[in-house]
Amino acid sequence: MSNILAGRSALITGSTSGIGLGIATAYAAHGANVMLNGFGDADEIESLREELASEHGVEVSYSAADMTKPAEIAAMYGKAKAEFGGIDILVNNAGIQHVSPVEEFPIEKWDAIIAINLSAVFHCTRAVLPMMKAKKWGRIINIASAHGLVASPFKSAYVAAKHGVVGFAKAVALEVAEQGITVNSICPGYVLTPLVEKQIDDQARVHGIPRESVIRDVILAPQPNKQFVKIEEVASLALYLATDAAVAITGSAFSIDGGWTAR
Ligand code: NAD
Repeated sequence: MSNILAGRSALITGSTSGIGLGIATAYAAHGANVMLNGFGDADEIESLREELASEHGVEVSYSAADMTKPAEIAAMYGKAKAEFGGIDILVNNAGIQHVSPVEEFPIEKWDAIIAINLSAVFHCTRAVLPMMKAKKWGRIINIASAHGLVASPFKSAYVAAKHGVVGFAKAVALEVAEQGITVNSICPGYVLTPLVEKQIDDQARVHGIPRESVIRDVILAPQPNKQFVKIEEVASLALYLATDAAVAITGSAFSIDGGWTAR
């Protein structure tokens, strides 16, 4: 593996699982020190941390910060600063989903989705920017969604938050454009992670149809190539955007969705 990110430190929110873990692994494999974040079993997270560090010869840290809590986000950045001297690459990835008609949407689910999927992006971004500006180098990569560009019914909070993330990235990209810092969003279609596994089970229950039918006829209905996007494919794009070569790419939203948003 090339050491294209050697000397860089990356913070990936929501990286104990799914896409975030895939990005953390790709970054570590290319020489970056990595701070993991997210929920899960403490022993499993510790073995994951040790494994990534020993396999790739980089420093791997972990923060249990809850993305709904701005004070914990500030403490997470404080830890990253103490351990790595700052963060060069921020990946705003933590996210949750809830599916419900808007008038029945539980208020606490709306608040949680906006807090984790959107407001945490603001809190993390504002924490890392001063040091990035001082270094005149930085990469901020938001894992938005195809739902940052188009909508589906019953996902009002998620669609609102992800559209917000794409817009927020554009605004910040303009603010820091002359300072060596790029800000972009990645908009994946469906990726088979625990977040989607849960939706498959929920839909199978609601529609009373088998899992395979839910995948083909419900989940992948808007995805023209009828294939899940792979975690590694999203991680490859996140890796490219973190390199020096991507310096001119900023304020952009990248679809990786098997053709979904081409319609
Ligand atoms: P996942 O459920 O596998 O992982 C989510 C991660 O976020 C986990 O590490 C979890 O512990 C963490 N997390 C959840 N709530 C948190 C909180 N309050 N504080 C800190 N961490 C928290 O999901 P995933 O599919 O890998 O999703 C990652 C991101 O990709 C999300 O923003 C999601 O919206 C986005 N996305 C996913 C898909 C998909 O099809 N899976 C498609 C487009 C976009």
